[in-house]
Amino acid sequence: MSGSALYETFARAPLAFERGEGSWLIEASGARYLDFAGGIAVNSLGHGHPHLVAALKDQADKLWHVSNLYRVPGQERLAERLAAATFADKVFFTNSGAEALECAIKTARRYQFANGHPERFRIITFEGAFHGRTLATIAAGGQQKYLEGFGPKVEGFDQVPFADIDAAEKAITPETAAILIEPVQGEGGIRAVPTEKLRRLRELCDKNGLLLVFDEVQCGIGRTGKLFAYEWSGIVPDVMAIAKGIGGGFPVGACLATDEAAKGMVSGVHGTTFGGNPLAMAVGNAVLDVVLEDGFLDEVKRKALVFKQGLAGIVDEFPDVFEEVRGVGLMLGLKCKMPNGTVNAAFRSHNFLAVPAGENVIRLLPPLNVSDEEIRIALDAIRASAASLSTAAGAA
Ligand SMILES: *Cc1c(COP(=O)(O)O)cnc(C)c1O
Repeated sequence: MSGSALYETFARAPLAFERGEGSWLIEASGARYLDFAGGIAVNSLGHGHPHLVAALKDQADKLWHVSNLYRVPGQERLAERLAAATFADKVFFTNSGAEALECAIKTARRYQFANGHPERFRIITFEGAFHGRTLATIAAGGQQKYLEGFGPKVEGFDQVPFADIDAAEKAITPETAAILIEPVQGEGGIRAVPTEKLRRLRELCDKNGLLLVFDEVQCGIGRTGKLFAYEWSGIVPDVMAIAKGIGGGFPVGACLATDEAAKGMVSGVHGTTFGGNPLAMAVGNAVLDVVLEDGFLDEVKRKALVFKQGLAGIVDEFPDVFEEVRGVGLMLGLKCKMPNGTVNAAFRSHNFLAVPAGENVIRLLPPLNVSDEEIRIALDAIRASAASLSTAAGAA
């Protein structure tokens, strides 16, 4: 009965785009949609950014793939630049967020092993977390709807309530290796962990010989107005998984670590065929060229403020549709009073694209280089959608 040869794992909207231009997606019919879904925080510089397109085309003419049997100069360069811009000394490249998390989990376990503590393999995680869809990362995320039917949950993950640091402290046992957290939860509903709590987690890790692992797959690469969200907290993690925005639409992920944290990841213990491939590295370097430009992140912060203020006005105007606006930088969420799927459908009928998230939130993830004019168009579409829903609610 199914209409295509694809697995039915996705509930897709009935849209198919032919091309993209900046913040816009365009159907074959010519219909244009303002894209604040951004491929789920992936299209950090919008669609068809000339610098990214040129980098990919240039690399495509030279060399696509050699595997990690050889040195890959683009990898060395991107790793050096990421290390220079962060707490990290070492980088392992992957093709996705889940693989970056797998590497982070393995790094934490191997660190304890290398320190003579093979019994320390457990990792504390937080409710509402999302770390990917591999067997280990669904165990880390702990969400029953993703675990059901896939056999025994991978051993070694202990979950505590969201941002509950006392509970995290109580969950530490002689077998604990690390604490894993998204500084700003994405899929969980755009929930930022208060700075003070991240600081306490750092202290807990230091006191107990644990590694602090941040998942910045969604909130990293300028999304919050800093290159990485941890910079808002004044503390640094030992290990960090990134992906999504670093590739700007090309599949790239990475696990970053200090020398100390990566000490167990010696020759032969981990690997990947595709990770760090020359095409991916060319694009990753091109994304950094733009995001690290002087003033780029200041502009993200400025535009984020304009957008958030506009959204706050709409929340006030339509209290029967929206409850609050939340989030940091251009990683914003509207908590809905009616099902977020209904709100998202109304957005779509106003040619505006966003992404539903947990806690009945709708995520707004525009390109970091979105224009003021596009923010205004987005606010108009959101207001018009809210008005249509509000009238419908009033009439019912
Ligand atoms: C998307 C996401 C992942 C998983 O990334 P994939 O590329 O889908 O494997 C992991 N963690 C967070 C915070 C994410 O948003």
